[in-house]
Amino acid sequence: MSQQATEQVHGHYIGGEWTTAGDERTFESHDPATGEVLATFRRGTESDVDAALEAADEAFEEWRSLSYIDRAEYLWDIYHELRDRHEELGEIVTKECGKEISEGKADVTEAWHMVEWAAGNARHPHGDVVPSEVAGKDAYMRRKPRGVVGCITPWNFPVAIPFWHMAIALVEGNTVVWKPAEQTPWCGQIIAEMFEDAGIPDGVFNMVQGYGDAGATITDDERVDTVLFTGSAEVGHEIADKVGGEPGKLAACEMGGKNGIVITEEADLDVAVHAAVMSSFKTTGQRCVSSERLIVHTDVYDEFKDRFVDVAEKVAVGDPLEDATFMGPAIEADHVEKIRRHNELAVEEGAEVLVDRFELADEEIPDGHDEGHWVGPFVYEIDYEPDLRCLNEECFGPHVALVEYDGDVDRALEIHNDTPYGLAGAIISEDYRQLNAFRDRAELGLAYANLPCIGAEVQLPFGGVKKSGNGYPSAREAIEAVTERTAWTMNN
Ligand code: GLU
Repeated sequence: MSQQATEQVHGHYIGGEWTTAGDERTFESHDPATGEVLATFRRGTESDVDAALEAADEAFEEWRSLSYIDRAEYLWDIYHELRDRHEELGEIVTKECGKEISEGKADVTEAWHMVEWAAGNARHPHGDVVPSEVAGKDAYMRRKPRGVVGCITPWNFPVAIPFWHMAIALVEGNTVVWKPAEQTPWCGQIIAEMFEDAGIPDGVFNMVQGYGDAGATITDDERVDTVLFTGSAEVGHEIADKVGGEPGKLAACEMGGKNGIVITEEADLDVAVHAAVMSSFKTTGQRCVSSERLIVHTDVYDEFKDRFVDVAEKVAVGDPLEDATFMGPAIEADHVEKIRRHNELAVEEGAEVLVDRFELADEEIPDGHDEGHWVGPFVYEIDYEPDLRCLNEECFGPHVALVEYDGDVDRALEIHNDTPYGLAGAIISEDYRQLNAFRDRAELGLAYANLPCIGAEVQLPFGGVKKSGNGYPSAREAIEAVTERTAWTMNN
């Protein structure tokens, strides 16, 4: 963004207008690799949220009365724009959230995959025709939009996740009030401009920039029929508890994980090392599906450990705009401190540290990037005990434990399932019985075999069990959260 752009204060998109109303408070978007200010934004207040909800509420009746195909047309325009601007948008994602450049571009690709799925869905069957119990009667299940959908999205997939939520909500006939993460408002601004350029009717899509107070004002308001949330367990559980207690209102929340990869005595160790490195260090460990536990059979433990440690010592941390970089910075200074505390906690609980690149050496920090939020891999081994906090609490960084186990796959599953979370996980094995045991008994929403536990596909459900999930706000299954079902029975 140009210097001129950084001097401008960007506003909210409400009822088809850009506005900087509300109070005078502003906040800035930063490049986590350099500390550079990218742009300045108005901080949303209660009155901004109120105006956005009013606009969404008013626009609902007309929007729902359009055909699915007509609603999807606006999304197809956005689909083409995402594709046409792939390179440029990928760089913006990387600048604003620090993911290395191939991941920045993949974020944009994932967004158009989601838009393609949701808009394409407009031409697919949307309910059920079922045989009636009585001759001469028709029995259907029909879907209807729920109304106003409030979307709260995280910074780590600043283009993809907003579309996971909003594309389906809109095609199904709901109107939307969205708050982007406060760390990635620039991506929020660009997405709102895309809706404006697509000519979506006023009030159908609304975006309010700001912090958690603006988010809470959206989720708490009685005009909101469904809340879709992706983010931390702390906030997600608060939303689920509050919204769950309100009749007629629904929240679908997808939260974090303490994801594990089981590497059995039947594993191909090339596959295991690749899966573990990708899952633990891609996006600097800042994915809800990142792996922080590697549960390794004693027969292959030493060899796996040597090979994994060797790669962890070498992974390239650096300028995320450089193709050779594997890991960019952490998102912000507070998050670096949080990762530090998790590393220290593991040591307090008896961890044997195998790789400590938390503080990067001076020569590893790229020129001109001294203000970046740098962290490197932290790898440790620890004897399994059920109540260790370091094996139960999510760090959301490049912080990973090796845990050795002896026995059959049941023992591996016992350790694997012993966390409050249940989002993503993987098993590495060439024995189909072990794979099937994991598929059937791992307490997870997303289970992978001989693959990393990152990189979900949009046409599958995306969500977790236990503390990780409460409904599916994203991808295919979000359709359940943004529609009501009517059982329609008709006498002929
Ligand atoms: N879509 C991402 C993946 O499967 C995860 C999204 C997230 O971390 O929130 O890797």
